[in-house]
Amino acid sequence: MMTVLRSVALDGATSRAEISRLTGLARSTVGQQVEVLLGCGLLTEEIMDSSVRGRPPHVLAVSTTAGTIAVADVEVNAVRLAVTDLSGTLILRSALTVDLARGPEAILGDLASEWRDMLSRSGHDPDGIRQIVVGLPAPVDYQRGCAVRPPGMPGWDSFPVGSFLSQEFNVPVFVDNDANLAALGETARGKDTEKPLLAVRISSGIGAGLVTANGEVHRGADGAAGDIGHIRVPGYEEVLCSCGKRGCLEAVASCTAVLADLELTGGNDPEAGVKQLVHLLATGDAKTLSRVRDAGAVVGEIMATLVHVYNPRTLVLSGPMTEACDDLLSEVRSVVYRQALPLATRKLVITATRLEQTAGLIGGVVLAVREVFSDKGMESLITSVATSRKSPPPLQFPPVGSGDNNRQPGTAQLPAADWR
Ligand SMILES: [Zn+2]
Repeated sequence: MMTVLRSVALDGATSRAEISRLTGLARSTVGQQVEVLLGCGLLTEEIMDSSVRGRPPHVLAVSTTAGTIAVADVEVNAVRLAVTDLSGTLILRSALTVDLARGPEAILGDLASEWRDMLSRSGHDPDGIRQIVVGLPAPVDYQRGCAVRPPGMPGWDSFPVGSFLSQEFNVPVFVDNDANLAALGETARGKDTEKPLLAVRISSGIGAGLVTANGEVHRGADGAAGDIGHIRVPGYEEVLCSCGKRGCLEAVASCTAVLADLELTGGNDPEAGVKQLVHLLATGDAKTLSRVRDAGAVVGEIMATLVHVYNPRTLVLSGPMTEACDDLLSEVRSVVYRQALPLATRKLVITATRLEQTAGLIGGVVLAVREVFSDKGMESLITSVATSRKSPPPLQFPPVGSGDNNRQPGTAQLPAADWR
């Protein structure tokens, strides 16, 4: 039954025949299992109007009332939030301005209230969340669900973000690094962002996420993979980084570094300097463009190395400087194509994000949908749906792990138009 549910949820099957074709299960087996899933409210079936002769088509989908997903992409000064149904279709988006220095309990409390409020406002059960995903602008131990020694986030080091929210909502919570979620979000764009995909965000810091050829995030042994901001750049040994070391990539080429060099302080508003920078880039200010090109050349040097290590098919750049002008992107392109080996670059596409700041949210939703429809997720979903009904249907599903052990994750393509 889990295979049938997953083929509708992740592979987009809409009919019994399609499920049978995708899963290899007999039509009669699919028919029986679809009836059980319809009976317990996890699937719905809509009969479409059709002018074609014959029976009108029946379209299967994951029920929009089976539960919801809540995602937050936490940045240094802002949090973006979304609630979706279980198939990842957007219900509502929101954003909060935050000061992470207030500490994790206050910030996570704000997220919980906002999610509940968003669900209430859109006519959904505020306690109907089935899965939560949170992205943090920090090195994240995803197995423990916490940030590890995050700079500029007092009180967050080792704070159990996952357990805190899990207790609040009594649901599973996945905590990840924001760059990992953004990389996953970029892959949801479809064909023009082929995998393996390396996504690099150049913002107040610099972080990277890698999605492998089979669609998994490469987090490394401890979750530190892609944390490239503190790689040492040769020739910049005199530049002090916020981490206490010298010559780090983000101390030389991040937005923060460029703003400091150009003396665009922005006063008390942390976003004002970035707005000024974007304005100067848009108006073609020579000094600003020159400094941003220098940053692009430094980023390009590190990217050329990463291209050798990972051999991605697509390299996606994002962040205010990339989104305001093409100069940073073209500088990175020229350095990477010049320095990396032909085998690694001949099919490599280097591009700017089209998702801008929603990549992390979209990636969070992709991850949440996968978690909901993992073996473990579906077992708890089916059990909770069954126990919430007075006369549970005869539920029978195979033990966790049986049959699907080597299955690659579904692509969980999200309709991009919802998110623009
Ligand atoms: Zn550093």
